[in-house]
Amino acid sequence: MEIEELIQETKVYNCLECGKCNASCPISWFESDYSPRLIAKRALEGFIDLDEKIWSCMSCQICSDRCPSEVAYPKFIWGLKAGALKSGIEEETYVSELEQLFLDGEREEDIGIVKEITAGKTVVEGQDGGIVTSLLTAGMEKGLFDSAIVVHREDGFRAKAIMTENVEDIIKASGSKYQFAPTVERLVEAIIGGGKERIAIVALPCSIYGIRRIQRVYSDVELYNIGLFCFENFYYELLKPIVSEILEVDLGLADKIDVKKGKFVVYIEGKSKACEVGELERAVRESCFFCTDFTARLADISVGSVGSPDGYSTVITRSKKGEELFGLLKGKGLETTSVDRNEIAKLASLKKKRGVEELEKLGEV
Ligand code: SF4
Ligand code: SF4
Ligand code: SF4
Repeated sequence: MEIEELIQETKVYNCLECGKCNASCPISWFESDYSPRLIAKRALEGFIDLDEKIWSCMSCQICSDRCPSEVAYPKFIWGLKAGALKSGIEEETYVSELEQLFLDGEREEDIGIVKEITAGKTVVEGQDGGIVTSLLTAGMEKGLFDSAIVVHREDGFRAKAIMTENVEDIIKASGSKYQFAPTVERLVEAIIGGGKERIAIVALPCSIYGIRRIQRVYSDVELYNIGLFCFENFYYELLKPIVSEILEVDLGLADKIDVKKGKFVVYIEGKSKACEVGELERAVRESCFFCTDFTARLADISVGSVGSPDGYSTVITRSKKGEELFGLLKGKGLETTSVDRNEIAKLASLKKKRGVEELEKLGEV
């Protein structure tokens, strides 16, 4: 795609220079030289930035959701990233820099930096062994952090990111939502508005990348990053009617949803209904097609079901903080078993391949 075409397709020519994107962008709050408004303006003036700035964007889509002119800024940035990759600028450079700053295990092909990898389950009820809920409650009870950013359900099964200071809210937030929620925005509010200094955050790989970019320039907050495995996520507004059409159930009434071995499963009133994940492609978030991180490579501790037997979660610790947090569960009813590393690496590699191919389709700008 030529730059003119990219500008047309992403409606950058509509930009009013209102600055709402800058004001909403969690990264802009901390990286003072990162400005979506200016990058858009410079492109309209014929200057294309393929330097480090474009790698600041974590594709959260908050800016495009709030843009009064419907500028598809994240897609525009993906186009610039495609151009940068063609010029030999590697995304890996920026990820490796952050790995070196925050992580300290051994590198494993496709899985990233690893200190320990195991399958675990706890006595707590939650998705696949209740590991995330247990990490948060144990960390808060131990005083490692006094607040946590988690994702609740509201209005049926719609995901909502919240900041909480109590264990009850953490327990209520258990279970996967398979939607993106702006956890990093809540984090920025907790730091800037709430003056919080010891925080745990449960976030998707794209958000963990953004959090690490923030931590790189702002180290005043003690953060525990819990990353979730993620192949792709859905827009609730699109997913709900598609699920209703295919499975004839109201997603808003579901007790739980799960994605396992290529199936999307909805549990309602003791029964379950499933379809192929591929049937839901129309509801997938646009940014997910370009995303290359499955295992939350930059988290202190990554958790997901892939690679573990039913009822267990795969847990990857990647830093001393991850080790410290997971250590709280040991001796407290944690059961562990072995993990199928090949299964994780296979899916991680598949996602990376899809992301790179989608970027290549955007072509040279
Ligand atoms: S919010 Fe939209 S219109 Fe406003 S500066 Fe950003 S891209 Fe331009
Ligand atoms: S997609 Fe998110 S990180 Fe990227 S510019 Fe928009 S608000 Fe900022
Ligand atoms: S696939 Fe990537 S962009 Fe999409 S929600 Fe998951 S981590 Fe974020």
